[in-house]
Amino acid sequence: MSGESTGPCLDQVSIFDNEAMEQLRKETRLDPEHLRALRNGLFKKFEADDIALGRFPERDRVLCHSLEMFRRCDSQVDGASKLLLKTAAGMLIESVILRIATGRSTLCVSSQVGCAAACDFCATGKMGIAQNLSSAEILDQVVQTGQLLAVEGRRLHNIVFMGMGEPFHNEENLFATLDALTSPKLFNRSPGSILVSTVGVPDGMLRCAERFPKVNLALSLHSVNPEVRRELIPLTKKHPLDELQETICELNRRQGIPVMIEYLMLAGKNDTLEDAAELINWLADLDVHVNLIPYNEIEDAPHLTGTEDSKIRTFASQLKDAGLTTTVRYSLGSDIAAACGQLVRKENRQAAMSSNWQLPRV
Ligand code: SF4
Repeated sequence: MSGESTGPCLDQVSIFDNEAMEQLRKETRLDPEHLRALRNGLFKKFEADDIALGRFPERDRVLCHSLEMFRRCDSQVDGASKLLLKTAAGMLIESVILRIATGRSTLCVSSQVGCAAACDFCATGKMGIAQNLSSAEILDQVVQTGQLLAVEGRRLHNIVFMGMGEPFHNEENLFATLDALTSPKLFNRSPGSILVSTVGVPDGMLRCAERFPKVNLALSLHSVNPEVRRELIPLTKKHPLDELQETICELNRRQGIPVMIEYLMLAGKNDTLEDAAELINWLADLDVHVNLIPYNEIEDAPHLTGTEDSKIRTFASQLKDAGLTTTVRYSLGSDIAAACGQLVRKENRQAAMSSNWQLPRV
């Protein structure tokens, strides 16, 4: 399969390393057209490795992937697949493919192994480790997914940074990835088809909007009650709600597009009519799109349960009646989430124990 690693070789150059690839081209006196054809084949058409490499005379010198396919789990109930991919350091990350009924496909990428934000509701946050993924490791999730969808005759439409990790804790590699994804010479993807989701790192969000004004941003808000939000997202101690409100206001000014507000529906925590009223009040005057997310319970957070569907619908109606654009996101792949998540946590704990990884300070 196209995602298989060709194995380490000292002479090989990563396709994601633009400088090294250009150097290789010059050393071997190849026409720039050969490199262009290789990149177009892999990054834009998502051709199989053999086909794309077939157009490059120095094919044995090129490494097409930075991640190794470890396991693929396909949902039996909807069009979701979870790819477990192994980094060079031996850690597992997840990429999720969502095949939406309309025929569109979305990829949810990871930006870190584990996550230091430690959100109470999130299995990744309970992993206890965090390591940044390189830009090559983020981009390879796109290449491997694109290749897999191409075999099915489908196209990749949207890329969302909602997998493992807080993207703005890995800002340099995030921006290098966004540069590559939107570069006409590389992936040539529309910035509007990309969404970066964060629990709220104001400076990073503003820098992102400055550099990539058309890339969509999402804030995982989940509560406008300071105490509840602190409980759910410990990181909010660093960036209080007032600061986040000002940030959205500034993003609206700089970008001219709505910021997505993600709101996990948790029974008894943030789902009462009073909570909805406070949320409406907090969002007044901001250009936002609210996305209510039913909660899939996780083993590590037995104290949290999801709000029942009828109550989510009432909550949504209250927001809509107040004039807020509101949707409910029903997550796909719930039958594969738990099993894959457990496998990732188990493998990564073992890999972390056999190395010296520590949780970074954020
Ligand atoms: S920032 Fe995202 S990945 Fe990290 S712990 Fe919170 S929800 Fe999980």
